[in-house]
Amino acid sequence: MNKIETWVNVPNNSDFTIYNLPYGAYTDKEGNHSFGVAIGRQIIDLNRLQEAGLLSDINLPGGIFNRTHLNDFIALGKPVWTSLRNRLTQLLTKGNTALQDKSDEIMLDQDDVKMRMPIHIGDYTDFYSSIEHAANVGSMFRDPDKALLPNWRHLPVGYHGRSSSIYISGTPIYRPMGQQIPKGETQPIFGESKRLDIELEMAFIIGGNTTQGECINTSVAEDHIFGMVLFNDWSARDIQKWEYVPLGPFLGKNFASSISPWIVTLDALNPFRVAGPVQDPKVLPYLQYQGEKNFDIHLEVALTTEAGDETIISRSNFKYMYWNMAQQLAHHTINGCTICVGDMMASGTISGKDKSSYGSMLELSWAGKNPIQLNSGETRTFLQDGDTVTLRGHGERDDIRVGFGEVSGKILPPKK
Ligand code: CA
Repeated sequence: MNKIETWVNVPNNSDFTIYNLPYGAYTDKEGNHSFGVAIGRQIIDLNRLQEAGLLSDINLPGGIFNRTHLNDFIALGKPVWTSLRNRLTQLLTKGNTALQDKSDEIMLDQDDVKMRMPIHIGDYTDFYSSIEHAANVGSMFRDPDKALLPNWRHLPVGYHGRSSSIYISGTPIYRPMGQQIPKGETQPIFGESKRLDIELEMAFIIGGNTTQGECINTSVAEDHIFGMVLFNDWSARDIQKWEYVPLGPFLGKNFASSISPWIVTLDALNPFRVAGPVQDPKVLPYLQYQGEKNFDIHLEVALTTEAGDETIISRSNFKYMYWNMAQQLAHHTINGCTICVGDMMASGTISGKDKSSYGSMLELSWAGKNPIQLNSGETRTFLQDGDTVTLRGHGERDDIRVGFGEVSGKILPPKK
């Protein structure tokens, strides 16, 4: 990839380089809602950019960036996303002064805005596509010898979640109440979840509608993806363990998930493509694919105590996924199920082979048997009230860095 220099001051190690250009939604100091693209510590306000006439060569309806959510823009399709990306790259490149001359009117500081939910999420699906995670959970919840169920290597297992409880980074998370079975007991009790956990995931956002009966082929599936965010699928393990048979996750999962506010496009993630794992046994023809469809994205989980001490409790990578996004989408639509612009599909917890790369506290503490050591001297098996969990992620290759920023949430006691 050619090196591009920008006239914007982008700090070293910034996630938001000229190669990234992620989309976000925010409210400014005056209370105006708008959409923007991040670069360094700044934001290009897309509504102001369009009003200044700097996007006139792109086929964009007037006021497209002056709406509540980005869905209408996303629905314009991949050629428009790519044209806007190319135009923004041009405007930000050193030597081009069209935007630079008007930057006081068009650009804002990220510290001066409050990020908000960028899209209306109609439907949300959560997959279960990391073989290490599925095997770890299977051996803890069931039998270590039968950790993976017979279907797992044949299809990307998933379930439908609720979009109503997906929150933007920074939203506090209330500890859920629910049924659970104390150790050694046979009858359930009701109370606060004592095994509140995280799930390190990434999620993609659908960029095009399908019609009833339509199936998406793996060869074009990525054209239906607008971009990706970091995703923390908060989970109450005690509630989950009691309720999940036979229909799967319900109240142990649907109280909250959190997303990072900046949507990184697949165009920006292209430099980080890598081959996926060999799938054995061979998958059915509709799940077969060509090319590199995994992405080398470094992921980390930080736990910060109420006193402010941060510990990185896991380092993982999106490239570990057994099933890729194209396969997930092909499987999701193979029965003719419709998907819509703004739908969100999460990867499932991303664990690696190494113990330090497990994507949940359930795995890191092995169901509470091995407490996680924190820098403060404290330990954790699961989350305490007052703990804040932050996920971060970025790709890096040949001095090109593209990152997601972060998604964080603080645990509060149950809402009274
Ligand atoms: Ca999950």
